[in-house]
Amino acid sequence: MIEVQSIRKSYGPIVALDDVSFSVADGEIVGLLGPNGAGKTTMIKILTGYLQPDEGSVAIDGIDVLTQTQAAQARIGYLPENAPAYPELSVQAYLKLIADLRQVPANEQRERISAAVYAVDLEDRLTQPIGTLSKGYRQRVGLAQAILHRPRLLILDEPSVGLDPTQIVEIRHLIRRLSEFSTILFSTHILPEVEALCNRVLILMNGQVKADANLAELAGASDAILMLDKAVGSAVDTLKALPGVHHVEPVTGDNGRAGFRISGPPETDLCPAIFQLAARHQWPVRELRSDRQTLERVFSKLAA
Ligand code: ATP
Repeated sequence: MIEVQSIRKSYGPIVALDDVSFSVADGEIVGLLGPNGAGKTTMIKILTGYLQPDEGSVAIDGIDVLTQTQAAQARIGYLPENAPAYPELSVQAYLKLIADLRQVPANEQRERISAAVYAVDLEDRLTQPIGTLSKGYRQRVGLAQAILHRPRLLILDEPSVGLDPTQIVEIRHLIRRLSEFSTILFSTHILPEVEALCNRVLILMNGQVKADANLAELAGASDAILMLDKAVGSAVDTLKALPGVHHVEPVTGDNGRAGFRISGPPETDLCPAIFQLAARHQWPVRELRSDRQTLERVFSKLAA
């Protein structure tokens, strides 16, 4: 559905995107996660044809966004970071305007507007001026305009920014519902949002894709934590030599105790083998447990 190759974009001396490549398959819900200034909005504006990259190519559903912008845009529903506000228009009048702009045939407009309004639960606000709606309801209007032309791809720029916790939960439900009909890519810097909604996450930092992870695989991965009562000189090398161990990272526990975070392949519990190793070497073991890999840990490792 999305094919991005070697995108570069600078604003004067600021490099916003530096050789970004990724693809998104039909039906995926992908979170584009990154700290402020990582390049998420720039990437989304390029994907939706509102900004030209300096280099690279983007295709949506096989259509080149740079050369066939309008045809590509017809396949995309886009919720920008700051949804355009027409405060004086009623919800209904605004959606009619969007239907005209999207060239929805006149005889289909009524049905399309009803379907979009139903999908985002806005039926009881149709005659209300947009300027008098709460932020959560304005986001729903933004989502309704994004789905009006029944796009196969929805691109949402920080859909829950500025919402209160109740509204965030509601928008999450809506996004999940909309994912039954469309592939979804949305940007966020909220980790739990990605964990709650996505099956895949792309982590963007300093304009580069630093990680592309499947959430189910991430949840299946766990490290072993081994804490010792006192340091043992050769422990790191001995642990590294254990079959299946990929990485050993020293950690410091309570009271300055020496310890290690030991990583192996996904779906593997290294604890029994570490237990036997420690017993063989008579290490003063204080604690041995497995610790599930979390998106937060992946994110902080990359940010470090
Ligand atoms: P946020 O989460 O804060 O919205 P972001 O990940 O969406 O950030 P971008 O808005 O894409 O990041 O910005 C990436 C970099 O490009 C930042 O350093 C930003 O200051 C810079 N930038 C973005 N737009 C412009 C512009 N129009 N002119 C100059 N610099 C810009």
